[in-house]
Amino acid sequence: MWGAVVVGVGTAGWVRIKDMLVPLPGSPAANLCVKGFISRRSLEPHQGVSQISTEEAVSREDIHVAFVCTENVLHEDNVRTFLQAGKHVCVEYPMTMSYKAAVELWDLAQKKGVILHEEHIELLTEDFKALQREVEGKILQEGTLHFTGGALKPGFGFQAFSGIARLTWLVELFGELSVAAATMEEDSGNDYSKMTAKLLTSDNRPLTWIEERGPGLPRSKSINFHFDSCTLTQIPPAPRGDVGLFMQDLIHFSAKLAGQVSAEQLHRERTRVLHCLELADRIQQLALK
Ligand code: NAD
Repeated sequence: MWGAVVVGVGTAGWVRIKDMLVPLPGSPAANLCVKGFISRRSLEPHQGVSQISTEEAVSREDIHVAFVCTENVLHEDNVRTFLQAGKHVCVEYPMTMSYKAAVELWDLAQKKGVILHEEHIELLTEDFKALQREVEGKILQEGTLHFTGGALKPGFGFQAFSGIARLTWLVELFGELSVAAATMEEDSGNDYSKMTAKLLTSDNRPLTWIEERGPGLPRSKSINFHFDSCTLTQIPPAPRGDVGLFMQDLIHFSAKLAGQVSAEQLHRERTRVLHCLELADRIQQLALK
């Protein structure tokens, strides 16, 4: 069994606790046992799970794993604290707010001989899998992915990082990308912001990624992908899977803990995560110039 602690109990943190209390039977996630949670608030025990301090969590020998579910800007420090203590870490995306910090954390995990995993539930959705099947084998001419959503909460950082799930979609669909240009429009009085990043595929095909946020904007993604053979303007609708997305991620993370994920797969994920963070860094530099 791996004893676990959840750091930050917002939406994601509560789901982590719930999933560990009732894991998918027979999956490696059933070997996780939640021992406590850490919060800046003073919270009552929840379903037998109590609040503990960071000091206690890092020093307890029956705690082997930390789930970092705080706002994005706090991820880096929390991940470092638990890696330093020799604990495995699962961090909600994005791992950090800079590429350099992510490289440091990954090096630290390697030095300590522990697993560092960044959750990417957006890659586990049935919508994404259907889109991936549609795109496979087609040759992109140009494309756009436009995300809209409500105003960004404090502590979630620059849009290229808070929206790394969309960037990760593009990298998974079209391979390594580079950044040609990036701009930012902001109306802070009205909590409105729009980031536009001009990306290029390795074949120099243009891809535009837009993150637009403001009060009342619906949470949605629209695509317009021109291929040599057709144009895709809709994410193919797909019914939800039977297993929740966070549970699927929990199973994947615990399979890593159990040594059931190949070194090649671990390397592929690390490369993708770092590539996306490097792109996000570059977009931020260009957009805020
Ligand atoms: P959240 O706003 O619900 O929680 C964020 C932080 O705020 C947590 O540390 C939590 O402890 C704290 N918090 C929540 N309510 C509070 C309150 N009333 N008073 C004081 N503090 C409070 O955000 P979230 O959706 O849980 O996101 C956490 C992380 O998970 C982020 O990195 C996000 O990118 C990632 N993530 C979330 C989802 C999701 O579906 N929610 C999906 C994928 C990744």
